[in-house]
Amino acid sequence: MKIVILNQADVEALLPMEACISAMAEALTALAQGQAHQPLRMIVRPPDAAGLMGLMPAYMSGEGAAYGLKAVCVFPQNTTLGKDAHQGSVMLFSAETGELLALMNASAITAIRTAAVSGVATQLLAQEQAGDLAIIGSGVQARTHLAAMAAVRPLRRVRVAGRTIENVRRFAAEMVMDYDFPIEPVESVEAAVSEADLIVTVTTAAEPILQRSWIAPGAHLNVVGSSIPTTREVDTATMVAASLFVDRRESTLNEAGDYLFAAREGAIGPDHIKAELGEVLTGEKPGRTGADEITLFKSLGLAIEDLAAAEYIYRQAQAKQVGTWVEF
Ligand code: NDP
Repeated sequence: MKIVILNQADVEALLPMEACISAMAEALTALAQGQAHQPLRMIVRPPDAAGLMGLMPAYMSGEGAAYGLKAVCVFPQNTTLGKDAHQGSVMLFSAETGELLALMNASAITAIRTAAVSGVATQLLAQEQAGDLAIIGSGVQARTHLAAMAAVRPLRRVRVAGRTIENVRRFAAEMVMDYDFPIEPVESVEAAVSEADLIVTVTTAAEPILQRSWIAPGAHLNVVGSSIPTTREVDTATMVAASLFVDRRESTLNEAGDYLFAAREGAIGPDHIKAELGEVLTGEKPGRTGADEITLFKSLGLAIEDLAAAEYIYRQAQAKQVGTWVEF
């Protein structure tokens, strides 16, 4: 039995953003239809360690049935070494025999699939003519989110803000080479989001960086940066004002600081969640219902997203005979 090992470059070549957006829409639909199975992720967080380890197992039935497991270490200080903060691998297993089929670079999968899910949310929830994008953060996710937003809406302009203006400027200068719309570094989050109709937050901030009073009517937000209960990027007033859409209800109620802080303050409860993205995809629940409505997708990241990305990549690697195939 041979397995394939796929490094970062292999994953990036085999998982283009458009294809990943389609794969994520299928995975979220399967989740809504009860074909995906996944427990909440398990986090190993030793008190004195430099990073944490997350374990994200999932099973998908139907066509392309498989087990997947992402073992990901998150080391925030890695960025000072020029390394991705997210390290690890996604393993893909046969649904028939349980045999390991593939071992793939998790940094690349995480970067691409997270942005692709925001792409699905934006396709579903943003106004048709939205194209004035604000990105808060200039790291790994900022890069892939720019690609995802450009894939689902014709962007007119992009403003980028963050914590360290030099990094924001470097990011904008690099990105402008790849796109034919203006990409402007700005000094503050408020200046970035003013009158924007698409907002992406992809920061490691622990406390709100985005305030309700700065957000224009009708904007769509992808709130991605916090995946744990103890940090958040948006203030309570924004959570209250927005129509809230999530990747998965159970995960939101257990893991999402953006939701949990506002809930602990008594401002919102579980019924504030309008729908999971999959429920909008299947037509079970409505998406945006008005031009002035602020829609907010709270992204946490799901194991089935990694599994669906890995399954797609595996089929591509087989067809194109890419990667390192080894007897296992
Ligand atoms: P990076 O470390 O590459 O980038 C983080 C960015 O956040 C940097 O630009 C940093 O600025 C900026 N930042 C940090 N604090 C602030 C602040 N207070 N105000 C404004 N900007 C700030 O991280 P990634 O791009 O890999 O990930 C971003 C976040 O997304 C992380 O928290 C990560 O855990 C989360 N994530 C979520 C996923 C999901 O599925 N929802 C999946 C993967 C990641 P500076 O230049 O100063 O460092």
